Amino acid sequence: MIVGVHPLAGFDKLLHYRVPEAMRDGLTLGSLVRVPVLNALRLGIVGEIGAPKNFPVERLKSLAQVVHPFPALPPDLLELARWMAGYYACGLDSIIETMLPAAVRNGAGLKQEKLLSVVRKLTPEELALIEKRAPQQAKLYRFMAEQFRPQKKSLVLARLDLTAAVASALVKRGVLSEETRRVERVAYTDDFAGGELVASQPHAPNAEQAAAIAALDGELAGGKFGVSLLHGITGSGKTEVYLRAIAKALAAGGGVIFLVPEVALTPQTVARLRSRLEAIAPDHRCVVWHSHLSEGERLDGWLALATGEARVVVGARSAVFAPVQNLRLIVVDEEHEPAYKQDETPRYHGRDVAVMRAKLNRAVCLLGSATPSLESFANAQAGKYKLLELKERVDSRKLPHIDIVDLRIEAMKQRAMPSLSGKLIDAMHARLERREQTILFINRRGYSSAMLCTKCGHVEECTHCSIALTYHRADETLRCHLCGVQKNAPLRCPKCGAPEIRWRGLGTQRVEEAVRRLVPRARVERMDSDTMGKKNRFREVLAQFRAGKIDVLVGTQMIGKGLDFPNVTLVGLIDADISMHIPDFRANERTFQLLVQVAGRAGRGDRAGEVIVQTFTPQASAIQYSRHADYAGFAAEELKLRKDFHYPPYRHLIHHLFRGKNPEKLQFFAEQWAKLVELTLGNRVELRGPTPSPIEKIKDEYRWQLWYFTPSVTKVVPDLAKLRAGFAWPDDITQVLDIDAVNLG
Ligand code: ADP
Ligand code: ZN
Repeated sequence: MIVGVHPLAGFDKLLHYRVPEAMRDGLTLGSLVRVPVLNALRLGIVGEIGAPKNFPVERLKSLAQVVHPFPALPPDLLELARWMAGYYACGLDSIIETMLPAAVRNGAGLKQEKLLSVVRKLTPEELALIEKRAPQQAKLYRFMAEQFRPQKKSLVLARLDLTAAVASALVKRGVLSEETRRVERVAYTDDFAGGELVASQPHAPNAEQAAAIAALDGELAGGKFGVSLLHGITGSGKTEVYLRAIAKALAAGGGVIFLVPEVALTPQTVARLRSRLEAIAPDHRCVVWHSHLSEGERLDGWLALATGEARVVVGARSAVFAPVQNLRLIVVDEEHEPAYKQDETPRYHGRDVAVMRAKLNRAVCLLGSATPSLESFANAQAGKYKLLELKERVDSRKLPHIDIVDLRIEAMKQRAMPSLSGKLIDAMHARLERREQTILFINRRGYSSAMLCTKCGHVEECTHCSIALTYHRADETLRCHLCGVQKNAPLRCPKCGAPEIRWRGLGTQRVEEAVRRLVPRARVERMDSDTMGKKNRFREVLAQFRAGKIDVLVGTQMIGKGLDFPNVTLVGLIDADISMHIPDFRANERTFQLLVQVAGRAGRGDRAGEVIVQTFTPQASAIQYSRHADYAGFAAEELKLRKDFHYPPYRHLIHHLFRGKNPEKLQFFAEQWAKLVELTLGNRVELRGPTPSPIEKIKDEYRWQLWYFTPSVTKVVPDLAKLRAGFAWPDDITQVLDIDAVNLG
């Protein structure tokens, strides 16, 4: 028997090995093995069964160990990994490592090992007799008789080069015993809801929900591939649709993956889901998958899914690789969230991988959002995805009104840079009177690098790329980070001539101080990644807020996700501008999404909600369309812009980052490389750059970047990857390719 193995850890190759007799038992595609590579033993995954072409079999080395024959990587994941390696231009080894939890890779606990122990000692006479008739059995006995504890059968047999039949014979004679060691199981509980399990009762679906569910029926029952986009406004009851679809998939004997952008931040979603799922299918435990699990917990969940003992997993991005058996349905909730894109190698997009995995399994992929990504929306418009719409809120309550505060006017009134507008302060006071609560959001991006005139709201944009120009303090220039256009930074606003052209965003701390000063009676608490570093702090604050011990919660948008606070009737967005003027063509889309999602948080209980948005640029389309949550209107206008400038979804965008300590050398090689790409692939890709990155230097390393625009990833990336592998990169320059890059700022 000969197998092809994908070694992990930096070996992006398929290597062939002979399999010794004793290791053949149960060995299959996806088995985890150890193989000799360059005089060291490495873990690997069996990726092929059969001999290599054009290589003398006699010269093959032998497999060193079968860590576990049970497929650590089921065939569908192996296929997915191969697709990803091609699409994202990265090594198969790095993808396999991402797919396998560390505990599984280490082989810990995976070993439902058979153990051998001696249960009856042989007399010297008996041993002599066996020696004569069955020398192999005697060999095994002598080895075992010297051991103090039970030994792993596979290891012993491999070491002595004996077959399983030898052990069986001694077991039959009553000399050895064989037992399977059970894998210890950790409890399935997770306490991320902080003890506040929100029981979610089943609802009789309303007409829109029923129609959406019915539209999924055929595919779910028939085992057909299909992608549906569930576009439902906030509070329209998308979860109920997910749950019904999940129930159907389970009833058809299938498995389900439910993805959420960030498990730790959506405790209620997860808690609600689990309580409902466990009600739907009491005999199916629901595995929760996220980065805060201990190795043991993760391994346990992994095993439960891989063995088919559990059929549903709820988790963040990486749960798309959960070894769910007979996969029928993948739900991607809040599919527009950038958190689905991994920002380290392999730089995959969880949503796109979900669609591919569904395709390979002939399963259904259900994408849901109140503000779908324009990529998904365009796919729905083109008929590639089925569009399911929920246009009404379940309780027919109106969406809260969004009030726009024009900070230009506020700045004039206050004669200073405003952090809290008069309107917002009044509204907070009113909440205090009524014993209701307020959330103040600040954009996560702590720096504002655009030039914004606080007098007239003018923002300098690149005329070729329609993105905000970035201000570089070092040489007082404005630059476009897509095409490289560069000019001197103006001292006065080019539009109105005012000198107030430089403006930076506020931090959460400044806003917290302002609230303490201006609304002194309010109990304020701040929540951002700085203050939430301490373990459990996040949960503590949320619990206090829920209990009504905090009046005003100040934080980055992380506090907005999936949280349901019935007593919050005021939401303020302090600086809508920051997200709007980052140098990213998706800045408008992000801002629109943020505003609509934030508005959906206000007044979810039986009281009406109010949303106040502060901005210097109230005329921006993201702001105007969000006032009435007009997704269709926004999408139409934004898609037109994207088409005019050839941005995604009309073309794919690939980011190439170069890093190095020597800036001149870095620039030189980036430019040489760009010339080469232009010459060889110029007919299939449009290049922009190379230019310095928005953050030019991190930890003493300079950064340059290059962009490729292309109609087809699959027609370009393989050639680009080949070209890159053949280019003589100096050792002190690192470079990273990011396909379908999401964060441009
Ligand atoms: P979305 O995710 O679309 O914003 P949710 O799924 O969170 O909305 O639903 C909003 C609320 O409406 C939840 O409290 C949910 O329990 C409730 N709900 C959902 N469907 C129905 C229904 N058919 N009848 C009554 N209440 C419903
Ligand atoms: Zn430009």
